[in-house]
Amino acid sequence: MFEVKTDENQEPVSEDASEKYCLCKGKFKSGYYVACEADEDCPNGGWLHPECSNDLRDLTQEQIDSLEKWYCESCVERIDKEN
Ligand SMILES: [Zn+2]
Ligand SMILES: [Zn+2]
Repeated sequence: MFEVKTDENQEPVSEDASEKYCLCKGKFKSGYYVACEADEDCPNGGWLHPECSNDLRDLTQEQIDSLEKWYCESCVERIDKEN
């Protein structure tokens, strides 16, 4: 008699990795992120959900796709202070 273990194929990695991204720190479950140009300097890990960003929330998918360089609001604030 063999016992089939079903949870062996689960990957615990993905949950942890998402915690450093976005303003929500992974609370909002979506695989769709927009890249912040500040990259490593971005306090949100360089990736944000459009749904979690005040700047992106009201944009259409097309408008988001056409963004060339985008900084999230955390980085815009930071850069403003530096200048
Ligand atoms: Zn988010
Ligand atoms: Zn940023």
